[in-house]
Amino acid sequence: MTAPFLPLADVETTSENEAFWNGLRDGRLDLPYCGNCAVFVWYPRAICPICHSENGIEWRPLPGTGRVYSYSIVAKGSGRWKESGPYVVAYVQLDSGHDGVDGPRVLTNIVGSDVQQKVKVDAAVGMVVDSDLKHDAKLGDVVRNLLRFTLA
Ligand SMILES: [Zn+2]
Repeated sequence: MTAPFLPLADVETTSENEAFWNGLRDGRLDLPYCGNCAVFVWYPRAICPICHSENGIEWRPLPGTGRVYSYSIVAKGSGRWKESGPYVVAYVQLDSGHDGVDGPRVLTNIVGSDVQQKVKVDAAVGMVVDSDLKHDAKLGDVVRNLLRFTLA
C-alpha cells in the first residue's frame, strides 16, 4: 500500500457511519436512505436530516458514479496538504441508481493524472477508494479509506 498523493483526512468511525466505512473497505458505496422522504442521507448518519426519523433509514448501495457539479483547483494546500498542490476539490452529484431519486451531492477530491487540466463541470466520474495505513496508539496499525473520484 502506498500513500496517496493527497493525504487522507482523519475520520472517526462510529456506530452511525460504520456501514459506510465498511462498504468503502470492500469497494462499495453504501449510504443511508430514508424511505419516508425518498432521499439518500449525506453525510452518513442514523437520523434523516429532513424528517428526523430513525425508523425509516435503511442502507442501500449506490453505483459510485456521478458528475462534477462544481470544482476548484487548489494551487497550494496547507497543513498536511501543503506539498500536494495543485489538486482538485469538487462537489460531485452522485447517481443514486434508483429511478426518481437523486443521489446526494458530496464534497470530495477528483484524482488522477493531469486531472487539473481535464476536469470540467458535468464531467462523468467514478469512485475510487484511497487508502493508507496509520498507527493508532490503542488499535495498532489501522487501514484508513477515503471516498474520492476519478474522471470516467
Ligand atoms: Zn426522512
